[in-house]
Amino acid sequence: MQYRRLGSSGLQLSALSLGAWVTFGSQIGRSEARELVATAWDHGVNFFDNAEGYANGAAEQVMGDVIADLRLPRDGYCVSSKVFFGAAADRRPTQRGLSRKHVRDACDAALKRLRVEHLDLYFCHRPDPDTPVAETVWAMDTLIRQGKVLYWGTSEWPATLIREAAQIARTHHLHGPTMEQPEYNLLKRARVELEYAPLYAELGLGTTVWSPLASGLLTGKYTGGVPADSRLAQPELAWLKRSVLGDDGDRLTRAGRFVALAAELGVAPAPLAIAWCLTNPHVSTVLLGASRTAQLIENLQAIELLDRLDEATWRRLEAATS
Ligand code: NDP
Repeated sequence: MQYRRLGSSGLQLSALSLGAWVTFGSQIGRSEARELVATAWDHGVNFFDNAEGYANGAAEQVMGDVIADLRLPRDGYCVSSKVFFGAAADRRPTQRGLSRKHVRDACDAALKRLRVEHLDLYFCHRPDPDTPVAETVWAMDTLIRQGKVLYWGTSEWPATLIREAAQIARTHHLHGPTMEQPEYNLLKRARVELEYAPLYAELGLGTTVWSPLASGLLTGKYTGGVPADSRLAQPELAWLKRSVLGDDGDRLTRAGRFVALAAELGVAPAPLAIAWCLTNPHVSTVLLGASRTAQLIENLQAIELLDRLDEATWRRLEAATS
């Protein structure tokens, strides 16, 4: 495993980390989740990503149980949560968003479900147009001062809003955002590479990037249709299927060109796509998703590819998928 600083902070995250979306508390059972966390840990993964909205809090509960069961040392791993979407099945107005009230309530609930006394990373899962940014910045700062959160950040916020939050924090001597959690893969590059570009030096922003495989599309598994045991076959994820596959065939075509090039290079597509994300020095960690341990083991091989492949190959992958 490699370890990278989270932006300009002192926190060292494993370059590959494990996320719980779709899988924990939903697609897979507790024993499979336990095996995934144990395998990740054995390979040097030290960051486990979660959110209140994943399976209405069930993902955090499973992750908390599994980490406790495995007796991972609290000072050896980092765990995150995200606030915005809410966890209650029947969400009332105060049970979602980024108000001071929900930020506090959601943090307390996540701590309980994850069975920890603090969250290492805490994200505002989306911007909240109904809450002033200053209110959220103060709420996050309070959690840090209370020792409930160590670093706070955003997920899929526009650069202008991240800058505004940082400016408010600077003006009032509060803790500002340390990291962003954006989607980043060979099919989706603009936000990380262009929109956020000035923020890396300006704010020391770190990134914990998601969907390195575009939900599995870059493995080539959807070329001949949707396999029955894949996430896109789940009826409740019809919205995800539409967004991953697209409606004009373009994403499938670009993914097909990528898989063909991987075959030419003699490398499995999944670790290759993940390794490409790591070639960007502004990526602090790549969040892996896996529904089976064999997938995770294959994906962890991405680290070895970083030394094996050269600049020209990375540029060829970009050309093939653009
Ligand atoms: P990926 O793009 O890596 O997709 C993971 C899925 O791809 C797996 O669950 C599996 O799906 C398939 N897959 C993975 N490896 C292989 C392999 N080697 N061979 C074949 N299929 C494979 O990541 P995710 O979209 O899951 O995102 C990762 C994490 O990022 C999440 O868990 C979450 O923590 C975070 N995230 C954050 C978001 C945010 O808004 N902040 C949004 C989304 C994710 P299958 O079960 O179908 O086989």
